[in-house]
Parts: sequence; structure tokens; C-alpha cells
Amino acid sequence: MGNHNFVQKKELFSFNATRCLRNEYFHNDCHICIDLCPKNAIDVVRNKLTISTAECIECAGCIGSCPTESFEIANFDPNEFAASFTNQENQEISCKSTTPCLGVFDTDHLLVMALRGDKTPVCDMSHCEGCPLNVDGTMEHTIRSHIKHANDFLVQIGIEKSIETVEKQEDSQEGMTRRALFRKGLEKAKEAIAQEGVKPLKSMTSAHHALPDIRMPLKRILLKNSLKECVGSMNQTQFNVNSPLFFNKEISFDACTNCGDCTQFCPTDALFPTSDKQGIYFAQGKCIGCGICEDICKTNAIKSVDGFDMVSIAYDRAQQLVHYDMVMCRECRCPFPYKGGDPICNRCEGYTKEFSNMFTLARDM
Ligand code: SF4
Ligand code: SF4
Ligand code: SF4
Repeated sequence: MGNHNFVQKKELFSFNATRCLRNEYFHNDCHICIDLCPKNAIDVVRNKLTISTAECIECAGCIGSCPTESFEIANFDPNEFAASFTNQENQEISCKSTTPCLGVFDTDHLLVMALRGDKTPVCDMSHCEGCPLNVDGTMEHTIRSHIKHANDFLVQIGIEKSIETVEKQEDSQEGMTRRALFRKGLEKAKEAIAQEGVKPLKSMTSAHHALPDIRMPLKRILLKNSLKECVGSMNQTQFNVNSPLFFNKEISFDACTNCGDCTQFCPTDALFPTSDKQGIYFAQGKCIGCGICEDICKTNAIKSVDGFDMVSIAYDRAQQLVHYDMVMCRECRCPFPYKGGDPICNRCEGYTKEFSNMFTLARDM
């Protein structure tokens, strides 16, 4: 079945269900986009995320927050914008001139803009209040937390830059309602696409989505590349604190059964088996903190821990979390991950216990 069967499209906006975490793992309950959508256009139908194209107004506000880049808008690519920010004349990013709703950016994008070149972005927040997309202040809160997380991180790694905001601005287009402005922006985008002779949207989005599924979000790849450029000049590269951006994992040697479920379901391959399949590696730079591994582990062997290492993140270095010697089970003669003591595998041990109970029961009858 082609990938396009899982792509829902409006005119400019599209959703690729194969990238959504809920698609990756049946029990995942990510609802970031659902909470953010100002029109309640995103819902879960038969356990799959679904967009109501009638309700969606293509505001792009949900795009930045999706950890797996499941959403796209044809007239604006936040990754491209962030990567080329240093070449842009204007430092200010504003929904009224340069971009759609600033919700199109994630913390990663803001950091890419801040880390590359001399300029740092200045976010125009002066239109959030009263904006129809900012229902109950949710959109503004999200954008502000992206800015805060980016600034906190810059302080943490000792980079003397900060993302500023514009809080009040004279509206040069007085008399025009915000809604009308938004519509105008959309019309302008459509015109631009037509003028540039871009292929019709249908084939354009299919072509885009025909790319192999990105296991690793592009925004994270861009951020890691940006970090590579400055990691050499950092005074400190290891931090023993919790981070909203980078995640760390630990696996209990005693509890893990080496079943491989976590490595199989990790959507970005941050967890992967050692070449002999007798252990598990973790690459911190690839983890998006989705929590699937912890949720799927039947023995609660894997858990999140504080700490991040900039060198490991920037260069995708992996660390081995567990490794087992395989020995032959004295009962079934199959190899199993040995943890010391009697060489009997979990299955045979359980079986022996179950039968000993049955024998005891039979004897007592
Ligand atoms: S934010 Fe992304 S991963 Fe999460 S439910 Fe929405 S589409 Fe899926
Ligand atoms: S950590 Fe859990 S899910 Fe992963 S291999 Fe070990 S037992 Fe299986
Ligand atoms: S390591 Fe766990 S939390 Fe990180 S991306 Fe993989 S499954 Fe998600």
C-alpha cells in the first residue's frame, strides 16, 4: 500500500498518519496536536488520529509541536526557514509578514536559528492576544514555552545569545481584522505557489510524502548539526539535570529480559540492539521522549533518568545500556540472557514453578 493512502490533505495542509506516534504504537496517547488545534479539527477516530478537513483552517499552528513532523504546509517549510535564517534580512519572525502562526516552529527550529550565524530570531508576539487561533491562550502559551526552552538551553550550554520577543507593535494594517489578515496571508501564499509555477498541490505533496519515512525528525537533525559547530567551544558538555529537549534512559540489568520490544517500537531507532543481539544501545541524540519504550516494557526495566551529554547528542554517540552473556538453558537447551545463578530461562523457570504447584495440588488431593 502506498504511503499516500495515509496522507490526509486539505489545500495546503497535509497530515501523514504513518509518522504519527499513535500509528507507530497502538497504545500511544500523544495528544499535543489535539490540544493545540484552535478549531478542534483533530480527533482520534477508531484509535487513529484524523483531521477533519472541513474544520481545519490551515493555520499551521500545530506543525511545530508534533514530535515526529507529521504535519506539513505546502507554502512554508519551518526546517528550510530555520536553516536559512542567517541569510535572511529580517531578524523578526512574525505571522503578519514572514511566517504563518509562530506555532509552526518548535524549540529545535528556534535553536537552529539562534545557533547558526550571528543573528538570533526576534519573535513577534504582539498579535497573539485576541488572535482567533489563540483559544484560551493555548497557542501563545505553546509558542512562549518553545522560546523559553530554547533560551534556557542557550544559558545552560553557555552560549550568550537569547531569543527576544516583540510584545507590542503598531499595526500598520489598521482596520483589517485579524481573521482577514490571516485569510490574506493564505491567499498570498496560494498566489506565490501559482506564480512560481509549482506543480499542482496534489502531486507536490505526494512527491514529498513519497520520500522514505523519516525515522528521525529533520528539525532534530538540523539542531544536531548546529550543535556540532559550537560543541567544541563549550566549557561544559555534560549536564546532570532534566531537560525538556533531550532525554536519557536507563535499563535495569535484572529486570530486562532482552525481549527486544523497546528496540523494535522505538520510532527513531534511539534504542537499538547490539550487533550480537545480546544487548541494547541508546543514542541520546535520537530520542524524542515519546515514552513508547517505557510503556511497552512488560517488566518496567527501562526508565527515564536525568542528564544529557552534548557530545553524544551532536555526534549521535550511543551507549550500551545492557548486555547479556547468552547461556544454554538446562531445561529447554535454548540460549537465554544469563544473569547469574541457576542456568534456567524465564519460561522454563515459570513452567517449573507452575508444575510444582500442580504436583503439590495433586499430592494433596
Ligand atoms: S502531535 Fe504528532 S505524534 Fe502527536 S498525536 Fe499529533 S500527529 Fe501524532
Ligand atoms: S528493556 Fe524491557 S522492552 Fe526492552 S528488551 Fe528489556 S525487557 Fe524488553
Ligand atoms: S528511546 Fe523511548 S522515549 Fe526515546 S524515542 Fe525511543 S521509544 Fe521514544
